[in-house]
Amino acid sequence: MSRAPDPVPPRRAGLAAKHRSWEARAVRTIEADFNRSADTHLIPVPLPATPGVQLYLKDESSHPTGSLKHRLARSLFLYALCNGWLREDGPVIEASSGSTAVSEAYFSRLIGLPFIAVMPRSTSPEKISAIEFYGGRTHLVELPHAVYSEAERLARETGGHNMDQFTYAERATDWRSNNNIAESIFLQMAEEPHPVPTWVVCSCGTGGTTATIGRFIRYRCFDTRVCATDPENSVFFDAYASGDRSLRLETGSKIEGVGRPRVESSFMPSVIDAMIKVPDIASLAAIWYLESVLGRRCGGSTGTNFIGALHLARTMHAAGESGSIVAILCDSGERYLGSYYSDEWLAARGFVIEPALRAIRACAEHGAPLPWELATAGDCTS
Ligand SMILES: *Cc1c(COP(=O)(O)O)cnc(C)c1O
Repeated sequence: MSRAPDPVPPRRAGLAAKHRSWEARAVRTIEADFNRSADTHLIPVPLPATPGVQLYLKDESSHPTGSLKHRLARSLFLYALCNGWLREDGPVIEASSGSTAVSEAYFSRLIGLPFIAVMPRSTSPEKISAIEFYGGRTHLVELPHAVYSEAERLARETGGHNMDQFTYAERATDWRSNNNIAESIFLQMAEEPHPVPTWVVCSCGTGGTTATIGRFIRYRCFDTRVCATDPENSVFFDAYASGDRSLRLETGSKIEGVGRPRVESSFMPSVIDAMIKVPDIASLAAIWYLESVLGRRCGGSTGTNFIGALHLARTMHAAGESGSIVAILCDSGERYLGSYYSDEWLAARGFVIEPALRAIRACAEHGAPLPWELATAGDCTS
């Protein structure tokens, strides 16, 4: 999977100049879109039981395409354009059934390229219509793991480009600057009581966001540590704890966007200081809790991050420390009205929200311990 695309064959002189001016127009169009966009917010979340610890959520749902994948898609397009991998007449292809395809469809349309998402036939009609809303096409395959080879085949046969988010996420993003997610967080924290967070908490799908945050922290010599959270049905936690990158699972994560059945090449354990494994029921009840304190819905992976942050806040509080924690709000819950916020969907999967929700409230507001044993790896004490 980590094979670089074949070099684009050299063009005749006139064509090369025409191609370069198309590339330049596309880069300027993406930069102008960025220039028109505002930064995403940093939202404080009250944690009454741990008064010395301030929690903030970095709200990535406020991007034009509704998730942190907007940043990834912009980076992947600029990386591909500046590497000379895109052409005016070739489609952009990605094996994704989720937020990445939605954001890539947006950027493809912005620069006038066709976009094809290669997805399993089981993908929900809501997702297909979100991709089609931005002008993308979907190419459905029978077997879920056939999406990768099918994306490569389509790219070869159409003269298009396979973006391959799981390989390129960690390297496409400009981690030193350019208002990447980490730089934005540290700028927005400047006026807070504890401007340098003790922890940044982020769950992993590609691993790209965690890589950007971890590298930026080292580059700017901050003491902040990175805690990655992981849902059930994912190999990241075990791979981090054991160092074994060959781990595989047959089942997929129920928390959309995070947790993978294989260790993706963009997952960088070397910049992660600790990991916490979060039970799915805790992630899901957490987004119901967040709705009650924020007045808005978040996606499941935000719940995973909130539980990780709550655990760290309690650990800091118990050690008599004060400080701040920033967790990523990855996408909005409006995308999951038919799943995480649907009583039928939850009941069909055996998720009982009410007692779990009460337990999270008792923990965040009254200092009761969480009823789940959270497995941790690395050092979660500060
Ligand atoms: C992709 C994704 C993440 C994780 O981000 P990565 O940078 O890919 O690790 C978290 N939540 C949601 C909803 C996502 O789509």
